[in-house]
Amino acid sequence: MKPIYVDNNATTRVADEVFAAMRPYFCEEYGNPSSMHSVGGRIGPKLREARRQVADFLGARPDEIIFTSCGTESDNTAVRAALATNPDKRHIVTSRVEHPAIGSLVSSLTREGYRVTEVPVDSNGCLDMIKLESSLTPDTALVTIMWANNETGVIFPVEKIAEKCRARGITFHTDAVQAAGKLPIDLSGNRIDMLSISGHKLHAPKGVGALYVRKGTKFSPFMIGGHQEKGRRAGTENVPGIIALGQACELAGRRLEEENTRVRALRDRLESELTRLIPDTRVNGTTKERTPNTTNISFANIEGESILLMLNEFGICASSGSACTSGSLEPSHVMRAMGVPFTMAHGSIRFSLSVYNTEEEIDEIIRRLPPIIERLRQLSPFC
Ligand SMILES: *Cc1c(COP(=O)(O)O)cnc(C)c1O
Repeated sequence: MKPIYVDNNATTRVADEVFAAMRPYFCEEYGNPSSMHSVGGRIGPKLREARRQVADFLGARPDEIIFTSCGTESDNTAVRAALATNPDKRHIVTSRVEHPAIGSLVSSLTREGYRVTEVPVDSNGCLDMIKLESSLTPDTALVTIMWANNETGVIFPVEKIAEKCRARGITFHTDAVQAAGKLPIDLSGNRIDMLSISGHKLHAPKGVGALYVRKGTKFSPFMIGGHQEKGRRAGTENVPGIIALGQACELAGRRLEEENTRVRALRDRLESELTRLIPDTRVNGTTKERTPNTTNISFANIEGESILLMLNEFGICASSGSACTSGSLEPSHVMRAMGVPFTMAHGSIRFSLSVYNTEEEIDEIIRRLPPIIERLRQLSPFC
């Protein structure tokens, strides 16, 4: 049985076109682009093409793109670069709902003497813009705010935030891992200084990412070593991964329309049918400013893990908002930041779709889930 995969915010399948593009770079064109011979020499133009593909997708210039190993590395590089180039400033502003690639990093920086402001969100997951603005000080080295949230899909007004930062001379970075391929991104038309993307959230393989650094932004490398990436990121290039990311970006640009029409319609139907057929549900996150592929729904009085296990019996792969797997039964930091009531926060399920999902798959989830919830509620000590 082919699984029904609706966990695309965790990772995505590699697109056939992407796999075909990267495949020759393992056993045939395996050269090191730094080598002085023909095997290595053929790689350089391919890397240039990939860099142009990523740049075009983001509305950037090729020399503003630095290839990295993942979204986490891009985020870490951006944060460290902003701090290293603003050595007298000791304050960082972020949101309460960042991915751990930013959240855990920034928390750890308090041990290095940085002061961190985590801007709260409201019950719909929307950022408190007044708090954000009032938290900016002359001591602020960096503002880092995600473009779209991985758990809820809620979109933050990062272009507006970037302008406020620019006006105060503060570096602004955004984690756009969940925005890329779902929202149009045009860095030539905004004031964002640095932006992170990750290959495996975008139908490229795991182990490749990119960091955009606007021309003129002060930068300091995170990985020190060879002269790769113009000295901005040392380490022999992940050639197949970079070629895959270039191809994936080009493909994502072409599929953006489908993502915002067909995929959005599938998501909307899944959400409206589940909330219609099942009593005591709550959609977590505003339904206005949201990525087209994500819905996060709470089912009162039951555990998300139980729902996931039962969905898995039918080959349906989704994700839950609570972090039971990490040994605690705490709801996720995102659900807590939104103040989702205890009885709701534990039963939250994230469905994240992609262009590979079909109408039939969505029908199957709509058919399978209501009896699962009914059964679990009969067993629940809370009901
Ligand atoms: C997945 C994800 C990351 C981390 O990307 P990796 O490539 O897995 O390191 C960072 N931010 C967000 C919002 C993500 O969803």
